[in-house]
Amino acid sequence: MTRPAAPATDGPASARTTLRRGANRAQYADERIRAILSAGVIAHVGVTTDDGPIVLPMAYGVRPSSRGGHEVLIHGALANAMLRAGRSVDVCLTVTIVDGLVVARTPFHNSMNYRSVVVRGTATAIDEPEQKLAALRTINDHITPIWGTARPPSAADLKKTLVLAVPLDEASAKVRSGDPVDEAEDLDGPHWAGVVPLSSRWGAPLPAADLRSRAPIPSAVAQLDGQDAHAEA
Ligand SMILES: Cc1cc2nc3c(=O)[nH]c(=O)nc-3n(C[C@H](O)[C@H](O)[C@H](O)COP(=O)(O)OP(=O)(O)OC[C@H]3O[C@@H](n4cnc5c(N)ncnc54)[C@H](O)[C@@H]3O)c2cc1C
Repeated sequence: MTRPAAPATDGPASARTTLRRGANRAQYADERIRAILSAGVIAHVGVTTDDGPIVLPMAYGVRPSSRGGHEVLIHGALANAMLRAGRSVDVCLTVTIVDGLVVARTPFHNSMNYRSVVVRGTATAIDEPEQKLAALRTINDHITPIWGTARPPSAADLKKTLVLAVPLDEASAKVRSGDPVDEAEDLDGPHWAGVVPLSSRWGAPLPAADLRSRAPIPSAVAQLDGQDAHAEA
C-alpha cells in the first residue's frame, strides 16, 4: 500500500546526507527514519574493503544508544570479511521498501513508489558479552520475535558472531508516493498511466519437516500470519 509522505520536520544531519536530487522527497525527522527502518526487513550494508567496495544484504535492528539517540545493529559470522572490514570504519547502510510500480506514459517517467533510508557512520564492534547478547536480541526480534521463547544462543554461538553498531545520527529518508509525473503534452495522449501497488504479507507458519516437539507455534510467530511485512510501527 502506498503511504502518503509525511512532511519533514527536521533538517538534514549533515551535508552528505542532504538530498540534492528529488529533495522534495526528503524526510529527515528521526521518528520518520525509525518508522521506515521498523518497516524494513533487509539492510544493504556497504563497506570499502582492501579489494574494493562491497554491498551485502543483512538483517538489522534499531535500539536506543547509550550515547543518546539510536543506533542500527548488524551481525554476522566472525569470518564475514565485510563485517570485519567494517569495524571502526565509515560504512553506509541502506534500507529499501518498494510500495509500487509507477507506470508513466513514457518509460522515461516510469518510477517506483518507495520508502528508503540511507545511514552513514562509523561502525563500532560490540564485544562485551552482555551487550552483545542484548544487541543480538534486538536484531533477531526486529523480524522474528522469538528470543523470549527459543533456546538462547550459547557462549560458543556468541564467540562466533560479530556485532556492529552504526549510530543513527547521520541518516536520510526518501519517500515517493502517488501517480506518475508525465509531461503536460502527454496527458491528452493515447498511453496508459498509473500505479501498480506492491505489498508483502507474511504467510501461515509451516512446521519444519523435522519438527519433533509438540510446542505450539510461538504466539509472536503465529501473529505474523497475514501481516503487512512492511507496516510501520
Ligand atoms: C526502489 C528505488 C529505485 C530507484 N531507482 C533509481 C534509478 O533507477 N535511477 C536513479 O537515478 N535513481 C533511482 N532511485 C533514487 C536513488 O536512490 C537516488 O535517490 C537518486 O539516484 C539520486 O542520487 P544522487 O546521488 O544524485 O543523490 P543525492 O541527492 O545527491 O544524494 C545525497 C544524499 O542524499 C541521501 N539519499 C539519496 N538517495 C536516497 C535514497 N533513495 N534514500 C534515502 N536517502 C537518499 C543520501 O544521504 C545521499 O548521501 C531509486 C530509489 C529507490 C528507493
